Amino acid sequence: MSVKSAGAEICFEKSGFLDRAHCELKVQIPNTLVCASAPHSNMPAIKPTCIRDLKLRVNIVDVVSRVATLKKAGSRFKGLCPFHQEKTPSFHVNPDRGSYKCFGCGKAGDIFSFVQETEQLNFTESVEALGQRFGVPIEYEEGGGGPSREERSLRQELFDLHDVAAEHFFQTFKASGPTGDFMRTYWKEKRRFAPEIADEFKIGAAEPGDNSLAAALLKRKYSEDALRQCGLFFMRDGALPALGTMKPRFRGRLMIPIRDHQGRVVAFTARQTDLTPQDDASREAKYVNSPETPIFTKGNLLFNLDRARTAAKDGHPFVMVEGQLDAIRCWSVGLKTAIAPQGTAITDGQLSLLRRYHSQIECFFDSDSAGQKAALRLLPLALRAELEVRYLTLTGDTNNDPDLRFLEKGLAAYDLLRSQSQSAMAYASRALLPSPDTASAEQKSRATQELFDIINHSESAIIRAQFLSEAARHLQLPPAALQKDYEQHRSRPQNRLTGQPAPIVAPPPTPTHVADSPENHLLLLLLHFEALGAAIAQVLLPLHAQQNWIDLNHLPGQLLVRFLNEIAEQNWPGRDHLDPLLENDAERALVANLLFESPALDDPSKVINEALRQLRTRALEPRLRQIELALATHGPDSPHDPIRLIKERTDIQRQLRAPFGLPAAL
Ligand code: ZN
Repeated sequence: MSVKSAGAEICFEKSGFLDRAHCELKVQIPNTLVCASAPHSNMPAIKPTCIRDLKLRVNIVDVVSRVATLKKAGSRFKGLCPFHQEKTPSFHVNPDRGSYKCFGCGKAGDIFSFVQETEQLNFTESVEALGQRFGVPIEYEEGGGGPSREERSLRQELFDLHDVAAEHFFQTFKASGPTGDFMRTYWKEKRRFAPEIADEFKIGAAEPGDNSLAAALLKRKYSEDALRQCGLFFMRDGALPALGTMKPRFRGRLMIPIRDHQGRVVAFTARQTDLTPQDDASREAKYVNSPETPIFTKGNLLFNLDRARTAAKDGHPFVMVEGQLDAIRCWSVGLKTAIAPQGTAITDGQLSLLRRYHSQIECFFDSDSAGQKAALRLLPLALRAELEVRYLTLTGDTNNDPDLRFLEKGLAAYDLLRSQSQSAMAYASRALLPSPDTASAEQKSRATQELFDIINHSESAIIRAQFLSEAARHLQLPPAALQKDYEQHRSRPQNRLTGQPAPIVAPPPTPTHVADSPENHLLLLLLHFEALGAAIAQVLLPLHAQQNWIDLNHLPGQLLVRFLNEIAEQNWPGRDHLDPLLENDAERALVANLLFESPALDDPSKVINEALRQLRTRALEPRLRQIELALATHGPDSPHDPIRLIKERTDIQRQLRAPFGLPAAL
């Protein structure tokens, strides 16, 4: 495996598990170009020493493992990439370097960029989040003290605010008093849950009458934006946040905190109880959810995924149930992989989130018609996400309530359900044509058309063929006839793989000319052979100053000049401490990419010489060609002085042959 550098070769260290094809040196400019260095102009900067400290103390494997499952591979780790959809792992983490790189989509970076991208935070927020998570205190420039509440970003404030609100509801639930007493009794007797489960999920209670939550939040001096946008209150436009203007959205309800897949409370689901006041805006609604906010998007969230994904990692498939309390019930009897959508709509986003942790999902919805419809709607989405679905259904018995079934039989109920589970096609066929024995040809044909619509969502020809043969069996149709009808159905343009999901992240274009540029090769050498930096700076900087040798239109050139200047001024912080020199995500990604692999060179000076030669040729040759053209077309009214031109040509030719004067020790 090697990278051609016009004559010279940069060979990479062999690292057993790496796929050869992926080992070329690539410079990827990620498509996220958010300036991260100064997200808020009035925000105090975090001390560089503090950033350095975090990087040294936090193991990147711990950071990535919250989002993706990693397996050890030699001295590194790999897993499915959290940034693009894939079936074979191409996401590599190097704990020694503190960096990651995906050989599929090209994303690369360190702990900060990882947290930025996976949690949609800016750079400062990512440092703060990591500091909080790993117990490293964050220090700020300008006398310290940290940013005031007003200066913190809205999203960070909203996370914090929800944490406080969840604790507030939980304390109300636990406290003796009319609301707490009522809710604990309701939890135990009506819902038949143990008190410990309430502790585990931080189940809370919203007071029916008072406004103690608003009071608690006002005391903490959240910004007006945060109080207005948290979704916990109704506020009139223009009214300033105050006890009188913040009308609580949830009153007299059992509060279930909704966490994102990282375990942060981002919203609430509120169950109606006898305490829900008559004048409640949605008195009749059994469940009221938080509205969508900057930290809560219903379609991206699955209830209990933060816990279930740990169990799914151990090989247990996810069990999709209808409601949050169903998922809590499953958890309480020891079925740890249960998850629930937010509301009824299941989205591509939710399923591709699941696919990161497990390739299978078991669907266990109520056997009423609403539940059946939702179960069937799940199927095309699951096919698109390449999730294998099985359906768990309650059959025949007197007791058709999943909740009661689990309550009475515990985990044994699940084992029984599993032993009777149905494949996706068996379930769909039965749902669309319950009695094939007596169905008319027209009914069968209608059912097959609906099945075709579902099957079309699979990209795999094998799965489609398998589904067709299963469907033929269940619908009691000759397989050849079904196959023929399907081909006809599929040949219609409107049926050709409708609704293909867009990849989560389109792979960024690979600017090969940039990756292959001499600037990039020099940058790579500079990072891996730091001792050579001074010599490169000494030779190249004056030449660049006179003749613009380095192309500043591309990132490698910009960083090369910046780094060489730091070296020349003896300010080089060392390659593992470059954060203060990097200004945005694209720069961080490029450096992370270059740092990820170790070029093993017998003779780095050969590569340096070659790169310098290329820079020189690029800088001088256009002028040489100009001169030659002018001389060739020279005539009586030519404005140029041929003698001068010839002298300049000789001069350039001499320059093009001259050695660079790099120290011999290189
Ligand atoms: Zn990737």
